[in-house]
Amino acid sequence: MIEKEALYKITYGLFVLTTKDGEKDNGCIVNTVAMITDNPKRITVYVNKNNYTEELIRKTGVFNASVLTEKATFSIFERFGFSSGRDTDKFAGTAYPRSENGLYYVDNGTNAFLSAKVVGVHDYGTHTLFVGEVTEGKVLSQDKSVSYEYYLSEIKPKPQVKPSEGEKWVCKICGYTYEGPLPEDFICPWCKHPAEDFEKVSG
Ligand code: FE
Repeated sequence: MIEKEALYKITYGLFVLTTKDGEKDNGCIVNTVAMITDNPKRITVYVNKNNYTEELIRKTGVFNASVLTEKATFSIFERFGFSSGRDTDKFAGTAYPRSENGLYYVDNGTNAFLSAKVVGVHDYGTHTLFVGEVTEGKVLSQDKSVSYEYYLSEIKPKPQVKPSEGEKWVCKICGYTYEGPLPEDFICPWCKHPAEDFEKVSG
């Protein structure tokens, strides 16, 4: 048997993955950036195909990964993680700098960014694995990189529950709240995780 909990013991960081298609900038939060080879320097990232960012990286072949730190505020996760760039401009009202490849990177709540050019695209059903050759990398601060575990325990707000309320489910991954009985095939609109990652908090 495979205990699902065993997979939760893997450690991950968190990153803002940014792309650009023509005039349209986009970005999302991922926990899946890793280095694969040192010479040349290559990194991997896998992205859920439901994310607009996945489509843009496949189309344009470039991305930036900004490394989030323990000082990143919840607002950064909300801005990049909890809406779709298909119908919103995630960069509205921001003044982020651009790297040499013309893409935005995030310079607050981060400690580095890496730019990469895609050299491999691998289809794994729900996700696409991109291999990118690093074209630029810069250290932005000495703050500690955030782990997924730290985000869940220290940054993500705790759900507010009043005992009188009806049935309510909260996504364990991102905190999205659903009122009423949760459909079995429900997909979290914010982080795209399935119904099994929701927990009942009232009702
Ligand atoms: Fe979620």
